[in-house]
Amino acid sequence: MNSDKQENTNTPKQQGHFLYQWIAADVAAGKNGGNVVTRFPPEPNGYLHIGHAKAICLDFGMAEEFNGRCHLRMDDTNPLKESDEYADNIKYDIKWLGFDWGEYFYSAADMFDQMYQIAENLIISGQAYVCSLSQEEWKEYRGVPTEPGKESPARNTSPEENLALFRRMKAGEFADGTKCLRAKIDMSSPNIHFRDPVIYRIMHAAHYHTGDKWCIYPMYDFAHPIEDALEGVTHSMCTLEFEVHRPLYDWVIDRMDEMGMLVIRNGNKIRPQQREFSRLSLTYTVMSKRLLLQLVENNKVDGWDDPRMPTICGMRRRGYPPMAIRNFCDSVGITKFISTTDFSLLEETVRAELNRTAERRLAVFNPVKLIIDNYPEDQEEFFDAVNNPEDESAGTRKIPFSRELYVEADDYMKDPPRKFFRLAIGKEVRLRYACLFTCTHVIEDDNGNVTEIHGVMDMDSRGGTAPDGRTVRGTIHWVSAKHAVEIPVRLYDRLFTVEDPLQDGSSNFMKYLNEDSINEVKALAEPSVAKFKPGEHVQFERSGYFFADPEDSRPDNIPVFNRTTTLRDSWAKNSSKK
Ligand code: ATP
Ligand code: MG
Repeated sequence: MNSDKQENTNTPKQQGHFLYQWIAADVAAGKNGGNVVTRFPPEPNGYLHIGHAKAICLDFGMAEEFNGRCHLRMDDTNPLKESDEYADNIKYDIKWLGFDWGEYFYSAADMFDQMYQIAENLIISGQAYVCSLSQEEWKEYRGVPTEPGKESPARNTSPEENLALFRRMKAGEFADGTKCLRAKIDMSSPNIHFRDPVIYRIMHAAHYHTGDKWCIYPMYDFAHPIEDALEGVTHSMCTLEFEVHRPLYDWVIDRMDEMGMLVIRNGNKIRPQQREFSRLSLTYTVMSKRLLLQLVENNKVDGWDDPRMPTICGMRRRGYPPMAIRNFCDSVGITKFISTTDFSLLEETVRAELNRTAERRLAVFNPVKLIIDNYPEDQEEFFDAVNNPEDESAGTRKIPFSRELYVEADDYMKDPPRKFFRLAIGKEVRLRYACLFTCTHVIEDDNGNVTEIHGVMDMDSRGGTAPDGRTVRGTIHWVSAKHAVEIPVRLYDRLFTVEDPLQDGSSNFMKYLNEDSINEVKALAEPSVAKFKPGEHVQFERSGYFFADPEDSRPDNIPVFNRTTTLRDSWAKNSSKK
């Protein structure tokens, strides 16, 4: 049996994409002394999702590739929704994926003093002013890209006046939204983000780390380049929507350069640069923390780590191995094309990983009795079964066998089509690892449902091989009725019924929730399944990959098994669910 801890091998290599080329060219040119420092900057306002995993793999991957380092920075500049619970889980998830920031942990809130100082410096040099326009007025003044915007009445006020007002903002003298600090850049720029953007706003809200110290908070576009610069980040990679913000990023870096605030490392002045790549989107799910939080708060799922969630913790609980997530992020690649990746590609990567690592067991989900009429009633024996055909070192185990077994009800057919190689009257099948069995007759109830399948085994076929080499095409799995253990199983399916739950906008997405996305059933398994420990993977043969839930179990400690994925893509041919 294996656990996730042993699975972080064969780190995928992210080479060759345009961001790799970008960094490689800088290193070759000796920029920043050839040093590479990247960062992953989550906002602790929710749990990480698989989209974040893509950014994590890129940020940490590039640092590793160029012998640099990757910082973990909590981008906690908005006090309203941030918490330590989120921050702690973010750290846990990144480590679980197999990445380590070492001593380079930062928090934007620790840089609030410097951000404030930079804002004052800008005011003093006439490059920022306190504006009293309302939000609507501000938007109206800003205008549209095709025509110059209108200047705020405060734009040409004196630095002294602005400094005094900004200090009063900081002192808490003004209500939220009544004033803001704006950078004085260019009201006629075709780039709307350049039209005197807001860089500080008033928010009378306690911050999870700085408490009531501040009632003004920096805006993302101002804070992010400052954080990168103060940490000495060389390559700052983010998603495509920030591309139009890049001139502002560079503007802030230029101002910091003028103020002599850029980090000098080994004699090189570190000037951070930003580049953008397309975000990961997946079919049949949503990927915004805001929407995921709505699912949690409306009890549509059982918390952030519900195995149906696209969160890292949800996927962990569903049994996705960290290497599968990393391999998936690697296979989608880094580009600037906006696209949506099929959820089944992720599942395929999970199967490929678990195929290598998960032990096999036999379990019957929809049981019907099979009785071997020529096998003595009080006899039992054990057959050897291979634990993992992909990994010899996993060894073998013994499975108990007796006269009465359970098999899957749909492995029998009354009027089988020509290519049905399983149970039917007069047909011979292999009972996996045990013997060859020929069905002779069945017993049905009043409604015509089969209640017992009867037949005889070839006594010379023990182990499952034909004594005369005859071909038996069908192999089915089974469990011994008197030895089987009943296990609780959760069959998970897609959380949404449509590829794009946001097709009618983000306020309507919940109507596409899949009512059948969780199905709790009982299965009958061979006895060794009772010994699985929380956090272990198993393949129930012919059915799927399952994961012994790390938290839930029966009172006797037999785990609840979460279905990680079916063995084949049951959504590919039609959208009828299995
Ligand atoms: P969300 O929209 O889900 O709330 P976010 O971008 O607000 O996400 P952050 O915590 O700010 O969340 O994200 C941290 C980093 O992860 C950012 O650099 C962001 O660009 C990146 N990121 C977020 N979502 C994705 C995604 N779907 N694909 C790739 N990178 C992403
Ligand atoms: Mg964000």
